[in-house]
Amino acid sequence: MEIGVLGFQGSVAEHIAATKEAARKLGISCRVSDVRTSAGLERLDGLIIPGGESTTMYKLCEREGMLERMREVPALFGTCAGAILLAKKIHNEEEGQKTLGLMDIVVERNAYGTQTESFEENLEVQLGPPDSEPVTMSAIFIRAPKIRSAGENVTVLANRGGEIVACGQREGGRFYLAACFHPELSTTLIHEHFLRRLLSG
Ligand code: GLN
Repeated sequence: MEIGVLGFQGSVAEHIAATKEAARKLGISCRVSDVRTSAGLERLDGLIIPGGESTTMYKLCEREGMLERMREVPALFGTCAGAILLAKKIHNEEEGQKTLGLMDIVVERNAYGTQTESFEENLEVQLGPPDSEPVTMSAIFIRAPKIRSAGENVTVLANRGGEIVACGQREGGRFYLAACFHPELSTTLIHEHFLRRLLSG
């Protein structure tokens, strides 16, 4: 399998390490590299979009002519700013802020407050079938967005106080995964889920 991590901003190295470790745990052979060009997107099975600053990240992808090819990658996983880029709509968009417009979610940027109000807490995440036991993981929220609403075709993986903080969607043969927090900093479980979903494609 060939996985790319968008390499402009954020915890790129941590995402690469978490993906490699997830693949090792699952016994999958997987190449993981950072991607900063449109050519780098060719033949990818999956692309991970890290956190960072969503307006800047979008502009960098636009400048490099990557947007169309990003939309064609079979599976995309966005964390924090990456989840904002996947969303079809931004609730509090800045001056027509654009996204890839792929996932049926409405996100609100910076909805937990300022950078200094960032936090870490344990979260129950449902990564198996609906009746399976959820797993507990530490989740780090860094000036995170909130997912304000989601379409019926979106599967909720984790809630926090009734608000969706991780979810997935299958659409037209593609798979999308969004997390408001930063799993790459504390666990490989979400990366394992992403790879498993990709395999069951
Ligand atoms: N606040 C950032 C944004 O709105 C996201 C923060 C993050 O990715 N950790 O783009």
